[in-house]
Amino acid sequence: MRTDRVEVRLTGLNDMKTHYRAVVIGGGVVGASVLYHLTKKGWHDVALIERLELTSGSTWHAAGGMHTVNGDPNVSKLQQYSINLYKEIEAISGQSVGLHMTEGLMLAATEARWEWLKNIHSKGRYMGMQLELVSLDEAERLLPLIDKSQFVGAMYDPIQGHVDPNGTTYAFAGAARKAGASVHTQTRVLATVLQPDGQWRVDTDKGSVTCDHVINCGGLWAREVGRMVGLELPILAMEHQYLITEDMPEVAEINASTGKMVLHAVDFDGEIYMRQERGGMLLGTYERHGVPWSPKQTPWDFGPTLLPNDLERIADNLEVGFNHFPAFKTAGIKQVINGPFTFAPDGNPLVGPVNGLPNYWVACGVMAGFSQGGGVGLALSNWMADGDPGFDVWAMDVARYGDWATPAYTHAKVVENYGRRFRVRFPNEELEAGRPLRTTPLYHRWLGLGAEMGEVWGMETPLWFSPDGTKDAFSFHRSSDFNAVKAEVHAVRTGVGISDTSTFAKYEVSGEGAEHWLSSMLASKLPPVGRMGLSPMLNPAGKLIGDLTVARLARDRFMVFGAGAAEKYHMRWFEQHLPATGVTLRAFGLDLVGIGLAGPKARDVLAALTDEDLSNEAFRFMDFRPAMAVGLHQVMAGRVSFTGETGYELWMRPDQQIAVFEALWQAGQPHAITPFGSRALLSLAREKFFGTWAREYRPIYGPFEAGLGRFVDLSKPDFIGRAAALSEQQQGPKRQRIHFTIDAGDADALGDEAVWKDGAVVGWITSGGYCHFSQCSVATGYVASEHLQATMAEAVWEVEILGERRRAVVQSEPIYDPKGLKMRM
Ligand SMILES: Cc1cc2nc3c(=O)[nH]c(=O)nc-3n(C[C@H](O)[C@H](O)[C@H](O)COP(=O)(O)OP(=O)(O)OC[C@H]3O[C@@H](n4cnc5c(N)ncnc54)[C@H](O)[C@@H]3O)c2cc1C
Repeated sequence: MRTDRVEVRLTGLNDMKTHYRAVVIGGGVVGASVLYHLTKKGWHDVALIERLELTSGSTWHAAGGMHTVNGDPNVSKLQQYSINLYKEIEAISGQSVGLHMTEGLMLAATEARWEWLKNIHSKGRYMGMQLELVSLDEAERLLPLIDKSQFVGAMYDPIQGHVDPNGTTYAFAGAARKAGASVHTQTRVLATVLQPDGQWRVDTDKGSVTCDHVINCGGLWAREVGRMVGLELPILAMEHQYLITEDMPEVAEINASTGKMVLHAVDFDGEIYMRQERGGMLLGTYERHGVPWSPKQTPWDFGPTLLPNDLERIADNLEVGFNHFPAFKTAGIKQVINGPFTFAPDGNPLVGPVNGLPNYWVACGVMAGFSQGGGVGLALSNWMADGDPGFDVWAMDVARYGDWATPAYTHAKVVENYGRRFRVRFPNEELEAGRPLRTTPLYHRWLGLGAEMGEVWGMETPLWFSPDGTKDAFSFHRSSDFNAVKAEVHAVRTGVGISDTSTFAKYEVSGEGAEHWLSSMLASKLPPVGRMGLSPMLNPAGKLIGDLTVARLARDRFMVFGAGAAEKYHMRWFEQHLPATGVTLRAFGLDLVGIGLAGPKARDVLAALTDEDLSNEAFRFMDFRPAMAVGLHQVMAGRVSFTGETGYELWMRPDQQIAVFEALWQAGQPHAITPFGSRALLSLAREKFFGTWAREYRPIYGPFEAGLGRFVDLSKPDFIGRAAALSEQQQGPKRQRIHFTIDAGDADALGDEAVWKDGAVVGWITSGGYCHFSQCSVATGYVASEHLQATMAEAVWEVEILGERRRAVVQSEPIYDPKGLKMRM
C-alpha cells in the first residue's frame, strides 16, 4: 500500500537530456530496480521515464510480502538476492524500505501438499536455504493463530517478511540517482522507434530522447508499451484482493509474549497468505475463479486507484481461513484492497532481449515484485552490460514463449495459473487450459491409439499410451501409467517402437559462410557431408547454452536439431551472431515434422519401404541422408538414437506425415510395432545416462562438468566460449555430473532433490525416474568435484525423496549397454 511520505524526494525531474545510454520505461519497483542495477554495472548515463509518479502501476497497493520459495531453484536464488538487497539500497539512498523480517510458516492441510513441502525442503537444502519441517505443535507455537487440527504439516522459513512498496521503489530510484541516473516523472512514453543508425528514439509527451538501449518495465502497461514496436507480450492483469482487519487482541497477545511481529503465513489449501499489518492482520487470497482486468487494453488514464472490491468472490477462501485461523471469525474488516497486477502464462517474469529488436529489453510480468524485483534487475543489467545474465534465468527468459502464445492463449493460461497459484502441481500433471494449441498431423492418430497428451512449447505430444483409457492419477509417487510405460519400453528394447519427434527444434543453416559461422557458434568439430554429430553450444563464459545435433547435408548446408522449447532462445542467439551476408538461417517450427523409429527391428520396418541400402555398413550410426524414399515419399533420414537401440529419425513436411506413418505402421505389423511416448523415451534414455536440455544441460554448467567434454574440439582455433572451456578442461571441472541407482520405494527422484554423502548435502539431482527395462530407479545430478575422489565408492550416498533419505549407489557407466553397441548394430 502507498504509505507515509517518503524521506528522499526526487528532484530535478524533468531536465531530460537528448541522449542516454539506456532508457527504462516505467517507475514501478521493477523499473526502479533495473535502473539501480544498471548504475551498479557502471552505466551512469541512464534514465527512467514514468508517466505519473513512481509506483503508479501495481506497485503502490502491493502487500509487500516476500519469500524465497519458488518452483525453480534458480528463481529462488534470485529471490534470496532480492531480499538481501534491501539493506543495501536503504543505506545508499537514505530511504527506509520499511523492512520487517518476520520469518514465515507454510502450512499444509493435505497429504499431497505436505509431500510438496517435503520436496521444497529437499530442494532448499542444497541451495543453502534454512527451511525446516516442523511439527504441528511447533507450528502452533510459532503461529498461535492456527487451529493445528486443520493441518498435517508445516515448514518454517527464517527468510520471509515484508517491505513498504513505496519506500522500496523510492530507495531503488534514490540509490540510482546518487550514482548519476535520472528519473523523469509525469512523462509518458508515446512511442519507441528504432532508427536507421541502430539507436532508439523514445517519444514522450514532453519531447523525444534517443538511447542505445530501451527497457520495457511498463508493468500494467507493458503489453501496450510492447505494442509500440509490434510486440505482443504474453501477459495479462488479474484482479487481486486482500483485506486488512481491525486491531486484533490475539495479535497484541502474540506481539507481547514473543516480542516480535506475527509470522508471515501461507496456507496453501486455504489459498491464503497473511501477515501482520499494524495491530491487525493482512489476509490475501488467490481464489480459484480469478477475474482478469482490462484483458484487451490497459487504459492510459488508470491511475493509482483501487478497483471495487468483491468479497463474495473470495467468500469460499475466507470460510476456509476462518476454520484454519479461528481468531479471524471475530475480527472486523478495516479495509479491502482490490488491485490489478500482471502475470505471464506460467506465472514467472518475462525478462531479456527480444528477438528481432536490437537492444530492446523487457522486464515485465513480474508478479512478485518484492521477492523478484531485485534479482530481475541484477540479471537484466548483467545481460545488457556483459551479454549474459550471469545466472540461469531460463525459467524467466522472455524467449520461452513463441508467437504461438497469443492473447487468447495467455488469457486462458493466466486465469488457470492464478486459480492454481497455491495448488499442488504434481510432477505428472499436465494443465488443460489453452489446449490443444499446436498439433502435428498425427495428433488424432495418436489419440486413436490411446495417447495421453502433454504439451511442449505449445505443441501436443504423446506422453504415454493408455491401452484401456486409464488416465494419469496425479501423484508424487509412481502412478497409473506405470505398466503402460513399461510395455512401451519393452517394445522398443525388444522389437520396434514408433514416436512423434516433431517437438524438436529444427534449423537449416546454409550458404557460402555456413561452415565457418556454425563452427564459430558450436564447440564441436563439424561432421563431414552425410554425417551427424553432437555439439555443445557455449556462451562466452564457457557455459552450456545448447546441446545440439548437427547434420551436414552438403558442403554448405546443415540441419541442426535441438530442444523444441529452446527454439526462440537459440534463434535469438543465432541471429545476434549472424553475419550480414553469406549465411541463411531458418527455424522450421512445425513446417518440418518428424517420426522416430527405434528398436532392434527398426531397420526391418524401414527396409520394407525403401530401396536404399540400410545395412550397418551402408547407413551407419550417425549417418544422415538428405533425401530417402520411404513408401510414396522422400524424407530426410538420420540414424541416431536417444533410446540406446538402433534408431532412425525421419523428417518431412507436415503433408507427408500421415502417409509416412501409415506406411511404417503397416510395415511394422509383423514386428508388433508399438507407439511410444516421451515418458518411455526418457526411461530408455535414462538407463543410457543421456541428458536433456533444461535439466542436465543449462547455462550454469560447463561442458566438462556435464560430461560433454569429449564433444568439445579445443583444437579449433576459435569458437564462442573456447577460452573458458579450455580453462575448465585445464583446471578440471569444479563439479561433475554423477549418476545413481536409488533404493527409491515407490517414489522416484524427479529433479532438484538434495544429494547426501556421508551425512552432508553435497549436490543436487537434475532428473530421475524409473528405468523399466533395468527395473531400477535412476537419477542424475551434480556434485562438487572435491566429493568425488577415489574413496567415494566407500561413502554412504543418499538422495532425499519426499523427506526420506534414500540409499543411492554411484554408477560409473550406463546401466544399459554401457559400451553403446546396440545403437551401433
Ligand atoms: C493487491 C496486490 C497485492 C500484491 N501483493 C504483493 C506482495 O505481497 N508481494 C509482492 O512481491 N508482490 C505483490 N504484488 C505484485 C506487485 O505489485 C508487482 O509484482 C509489482 O508491483 C510489479 O512492478 P512493476 O514495476 O513490474 O509494474 P508496475 O508497478 O505496474 O509499474 C509500471 C510503471 O510503469 C509506468 N508506465 C507504464 N507505461 C508507461 C509509459 N508509456 N510511459 C511512462 N511510464 C509508464 C506506470 O505508470 C507504472 O508506474 C501485489 C499486487 C497487487 C495488485
